[in-house]
Amino acid sequence: MSERITAVKGMNDIAPPQSAHWEWLEARVRALLQRYGYRNIRTPIVEPLALFVRGLGEVTDIVEKEMYAFEDRLNGEQLALRPEGTAGVVRAVVEHALLYDGPKRFYYMGPMFRHERPQRGRYRQFHQIGVEALGLAGPEADVELITLAADLWQELGVQDVTLELNTLGQPAERAAHRQALIAYFEQHRDQLDEDARRRLYTNPLRILDTKNPAMQALVEGAPRLLDHLGAASRAHFDAVCALLDAQGIAYRVNPRLVRGLDYYHHTVFEFVTTSLGAQGTVCAGGRYDGLVAELGGKPAPGVGWAMGVERLLALLEAQQRLPAPPVPDAYAIVPDEAAWPRVLPALRALRAAGLQVLMHARTADGLAGMKAQFKKADASGARYALIFGADELAQGMVAVKPLRAEPGGAITEQVRRPLDEAAQWASELLSPSIS
Ligand code: ATP
Ligand code: MG
Repeated sequence: MSERITAVKGMNDIAPPQSAHWEWLEARVRALLQRYGYRNIRTPIVEPLALFVRGLGEVTDIVEKEMYAFEDRLNGEQLALRPEGTAGVVRAVVEHALLYDGPKRFYYMGPMFRHERPQRGRYRQFHQIGVEALGLAGPEADVELITLAADLWQELGVQDVTLELNTLGQPAERAAHRQALIAYFEQHRDQLDEDARRRLYTNPLRILDTKNPAMQALVEGAPRLLDHLGAASRAHFDAVCALLDAQGIAYRVNPRLVRGLDYYHHTVFEFVTTSLGAQGTVCAGGRYDGLVAELGGKPAPGVGWAMGVERLLALLEAQQRLPAPPVPDAYAIVPDEAAWPRVLPALRALRAAGLQVLMHARTADGLAGMKAQFKKADASGARYALIFGADELAQGMVAVKPLRAEPGGAITEQVRRPLDEAAQWASELLSPSIS
């Protein structure tokens, strides 16, 4: 045997039965997004490196140390695996003038890549579901997005997710606040850790975000951006709060919430949980009115969020909100290989009628005996066995045997049904909840 090749560290395979949870979640989210009028957009996983350097900002964690950047061996282009979705969506919007006939609401789902230290809730390939509303300037758009996320928690039955809210104001206000922050931290330089010293002049706002317990008191006393807001920014923030209040959506204003990315203006928010340990942010977003122009488009406002699918699934699992794995309606037992020409068409007809049918088939060891096949049927969770025995086939019939005490369908004891009329009796095998 050859040596094994394993997956790249921090990048996971998602196989059954877990993959069923992913499909279930994606379908639920999609249905909700449709109701809010968000439409799917799919952008490439590889983009020019410059897109993220410009779109996210040079002094962000992602650009400084987390990006999978590489040179295309064939033409020397500088490329990167996308670390997040917003920059690509905005690039596509600018490139194809997608706002030419008015504002747009988009959603995406897919893998993102960051070279981080893998741990629970933090991977190198992870998945985001994200929404972006472009061309909408008012606080009602911010609140629409937040409401959408809140509805999702409610619909999925997740508990213990709280909304944290802040505003980053506008660039001039941030500049004034930045000066005040630098002055404050300079006065307390001896209390800064290495990371903070490095960020002092490049990205002092991020110091507020520190997880170092020794710096908490210092950071608590730092000048607040909320106190540097002009009237327009204040009004935007107050309106966001009022519209959340109007819907009974609870939130906590957190003046230290700054978000990792540089392009945010006004509203920023995170949905956090205490149920997942250190990686407690499930969904995060905000308004990024400067980004479209930054990427070469005609200035247009934008607001969005992205949620971490792995973290949301971990939360659903911890709170026992994941559905049971799917089971087939029926398992086809095939005692003799001569039966295949009759089995395959009959199963095809049952599936066309909407049934989930699993067919027994030969392994490398050959065709299993009846007993072993029944064992497989039972293990599959199927509610019925379809037995294609020689006696039945001779009469143009198949035997239908309930495998569960309460199969939920119309058939409760072993019966025979005509092979050629599968479409007519298929519904008898459907459980009432599915039909
Ligand atoms: P964190 O502070 O946890 O590093 P972030 O600010 O880098 O998060 P965003 O860029 O806002 O995260 O991404 C949005 C969401 O994507 C996060 O709230 C989280 O749920 C998820 N996420 C981010 N990075 C990872 C990762 N490496 N592995 C798994 N999920 C992630
Ligand atoms: Mg991060």
